[in-house]
Amino acid sequence: MPQSVKIGAGDPPMKPNNPKPSDALPLPLSLTNGLFFTMFFSVMYFLLTRWREKIRNSTPLHVVTLSELAASVSLLASIIYLIGFFGIDFVQSVIYRSNEDAWDVEEEENEKFIIEEDSRMGASPATTLGCAVPVVPLIPQQPTKVPVTEKPAPIITPQSSEEDEQIVNSVVEGKVPSYSLESKLGDCKRAASIRREALQRITGKSLEGLPLEGFDYESILGQCCEMPVGYVQIPVGIAGPLLLNGTEFMVPMATTEGCLVASTNRGCKAIYASGGATGTLLKDGMTRAPVVRFETAKRAAELKLYLENPVNYETISVVFNKSSRFAKLQGIHCAIAGKNLYIRFNSSTGDAMGMNMVSKGVQNVLDFLGNDFPDMDVIGISGNFCSDKKPAAVNWIEGRGKSVVCEAIIKEEIVKKVLKTNVAALVELNMLKNLTGSAIAGALGGFNAHASNIVSAVYIATGQDPAQNIESSHCITMMEAVNDGKDLHISVTMPSIEVGTVGGGTQLSSQSACLNLLGVKGASKESAGANARLLATIVAGSVLAGELSLMSAIAAGQPQRSHMKYNRSSKDVTKISS
Ligand code: ADP
Repeated sequence: MPQSVKIGAGDPPMKPNNPKPSDALPLPLSLTNGLFFTMFFSVMYFLLTRWREKIRNSTPLHVVTLSELAASVSLLASIIYLIGFFGIDFVQSVIYRSNEDAWDVEEEENEKFIIEEDSRMGASPATTLGCAVPVVPLIPQQPTKVPVTEKPAPIITPQSSEEDEQIVNSVVEGKVPSYSLESKLGDCKRAASIRREALQRITGKSLEGLPLEGFDYESILGQCCEMPVGYVQIPVGIAGPLLLNGTEFMVPMATTEGCLVASTNRGCKAIYASGGATGTLLKDGMTRAPVVRFETAKRAAELKLYLENPVNYETISVVFNKSSRFAKLQGIHCAIAGKNLYIRFNSSTGDAMGMNMVSKGVQNVLDFLGNDFPDMDVIGISGNFCSDKKPAAVNWIEGRGKSVVCEAIIKEEIVKKVLKTNVAALVELNMLKNLTGSAIAGALGGFNAHASNIVSAVYIATGQDPAQNIESSHCITMMEAVNDGKDLHISVTMPSIEVGTVGGGTQLSSQSACLNLLGVKGASKESAGANARLLATIVAGSVLAGELSLMSAIAAGQPQRSHMKYNRSSKDVTKISS
C-alpha cells in the first residue's frame, strides 16, 4: 500500500502518477536505499568471485549451486529496486564499475605472475645481482633493452691484501690483461690466484674443487701452460712388474677409467709368469715437413732431385744438425703436389721428443736452400706431411718418433690360469677382431684392441704430449699358436711412439717422479736418447700387457662384467649438474 506523505509548504510538489517501488517499503527511504545497495554490492561481489573461480577451474558457468541461485535472486531484486528508484543509466554504470574493479584484481595478479615468470627465466637484469625483481609495465612505453644472456651473480672471495683486491678489480674491468699478470707481478702463484678470482667474478661460476694450492706455477711458465688458474688431479695407478728385456718396471698410469690399470696389471702378471717380454727398437726419428712453393712444378721437382742427391744430402745434414748437439738427420722424404713440394725431414733427437729441435733444424735448412733456390716460397714450416697429431698413413707406414716391436710367448697354463681362456680362442678372436674387423672398419693403424688406453695413461703420467696419442697408438697386434699349438705368441708393432724424457711436461714434479719410477728421468748419462728409447719400449711392453688382458677378457666373455664392477659409479649421476 502507498504510504501517505505529508507535504510541507516549502516541499517540492510530488508526482502522484509516478510511484516508486520503495514507496511500498515500511522503512525510511535512505535506509531502504542503503539496504538494497549493500545487498547489490555484496551479492555482485559474491557472484563474480564464484564466476572467476569457475573459469579458473574450468567449471561450466551454468552449473549453479543453491547459494549462487539465492544470490542471483537477491541480485535481481536489488537491481529491480535500484532501477525503479535511480533509473537504468545509473544502475548500468554501477554494474560496469563493480565488474571492472573485480577483474582488475585478476589483471594485477596476472601481471605479477608474468613478471615473476620472466624473472625465473633470467630476463630481468636485477635478478643477476640477486636483487628483488622490479615491477615493470608489461607493455613499456619505450622498448627497453632486455639482456639475452643470463649474467650470473658474482662470486667474491676476499683477497689477502688491498693491493690484490685492486688488481682483481682491474682484471675484471679489463684494465689489466689477464695474460700479463705473471710478468707484472713477478710471482706466478699470486698471478694464478688473482686470475682465478677474477675469472670467478666475471663468470659467476665457482672454481671450488679445482685446486690452486700445492702446485709450482713457476715450473710451467713459458713452457707448459699459459694463464693457469689451478690444476686438474688425475689418479695414478701402478701396473707391474712388467718384465721387459730382463728388467722389471712398475708402470705408472694416469687414468680415470676404472678397470684399465687392473687389466694391464693382469697382463703384466701373465707376461711375468711366462718369462717376460722382449722389446726391440726399429727406428728413432722425429719428423717435420715444411711445404714450399715454386712458379712451376718443374722447379719443385728440381729441388726434390737436389735433396735426394747423396752429395747434397751430406751438406744439408751438416746444416740441419747445427740446431742441437742431439739432432742427427736420418733422412729426407719428398712428395710433390703440382708446384708444391713437401719435404719430410727425419731426425733423431736424443732424449727429447724432438719437435722443437727438428723444427729448428728445418728452419736452418730452408734458410740455406734460399741461396740456391731464391724462387722458393716457404708456405709453412709444417705442411702436414710430418704428420703431427693427426691420423695419417705416412706415420703408420714410415714411422714417426720411435718404432718398436714387442713380443712374448705366453705359456698354455698361464693362458688358462691367469687369463682364463685358451690359445685357440685368443688366436681366432685376434684374427676376426683386430685384423679382419679393423680392415672392414677401414682402420688406419688401429689393428689392436685398445692400445690408446695404455698409451694415453702412460703419456699423462710421464709428461708426454697427450695429443700425440693419435699416432703413438698406431699398433698391430698379432697372435699365433706356437710350440705345437700349445702356447701363445703375441706381439705389438707400434711405428710411431713419440716420447721424450727431457723438455715439455717431463720436467714437472709429478711427471718427473713417474719417469724416475721407471728409471728414465731426464737425459741419459750413458748414451743420448737411451732414456727416451727405453721409455718407448716400456710403452710398447705395457700395450702388450693391455692387449693380452683385454683380448683374454673378451675371449672369455668377461669385459662387460668387469666394467660394470670397476668402471661404473653407483652414485646417482643425475644429481650432478652444472
Ligand atoms: P722438444 O724438442 O722435445 O720439444 P725441447 O725443445 O725442450 O724438446 O728440446 C730439448 C732440450 O733439452 C734442448 O734444448 C736440448 O739441448 C736439451 N737436452 C739436454 N739433454 C738432452 C738430451 N739427452 N737429449 C735431447 N735434448 C737434450
